[in-house]
Amino acid sequence: MARRKKFDLLKAIGIAVFVAVGILSYLYSNGYIGTNNQTSADTYVDFIDCGQGDSTLIVSDGCATLIDATTGKDAQKVVEHLKGRNIKKIDHFILTHPHEDHIGGAEVILDTFEVETIHMRRPTKGTEPTTKVYLNLLKKIKSLGKTVHAVDAEDLFESGEWSFKVFGPLKDYEDLNDQSVVLKGTYQGVSILLTGDMESAVEKDLCEAYGDDLKSTILKVGHHGSKTSSSAIFLKAVSPQYGVISCEAGNSYGHPHKEALNRLKKHNVEILRTDLDGTVTLITDGRNVWQGEES
Ligand SMILES: [Zn+2]
Repeated sequence: MARRKKFDLLKAIGIAVFVAVGILSYLYSNGYIGTNNQTSADTYVDFIDCGQGDSTLIVSDGCATLIDATTGKDAQKVVEHLKGRNIKKIDHFILTHPHEDHIGGAEVILDTFEVETIHMRRPTKGTEPTTKVYLNLLKKIKSLGKTVHAVDAEDLFESGEWSFKVFGPLKDYEDLNDQSVVLKGTYQGVSILLTGDMESAVEKDLCEAYGDDLKSTILKVGHHGSKTSSSAIFLKAVSPQYGVISCEAGNSYGHPHKEALNRLKKHNVEILRTDLDGTVTLITDGRNVWQGEES
């Protein structure tokens, strides 16, 4: 009888340990315990410090998405950053609109890294740029034997853990800034909205078309923090936790404008700036977002 009792006790302890290990490993792997920076998925967003331009890198599960390539002058800053992150291949390269501060470094990127898909929007009829930087980029793409995927609203694509949807532009706007590709990425409960240099009239159109679907954890603040973007109605719809501004310290445009900063503050957005903070890195496990060290 005593032996039987001992055996039962050992069995009970065994089951209890098994269950406890199971519960702990579930909690750990789902991020309920452990510190924030312990995550198996290497998922981060870098808003690269690249002068008076834009370049955002999103890496997840070994897949890289690059949105814009800053100016020709500062292209090497993006190249060095990507090399520092050990990026060899860019799965999705999105050029939001054909202004120099977004596409200026694109040729260098294409020459340095293997690029799978190039996404660009076909300019509105009658507004096709004739600038050297735009025409040379098209020539470069052709010379590499590549084609451009013509982006349109409602397009979908995946990159690592992220699902991306193109939200705009929804109309054939005349202004090139307003023709910026608007992209929303979602990774489980976390999302990011990138709007290029889109201005407030287009923000209004997006609010009318999408409403609450614009809600995002992270907003890449439009047009380098210009007062002509980040309207109150748009910030209310997006309601971001973080707003990241990409601009150069002491730039001649005065970006970011105090009007835009005040509106962001009023909407309780935590503002991060490449001109003050250098490259801004946000890390996520699909539930929380936290700031990382610069790579
Ligand atoms: Zn710009």
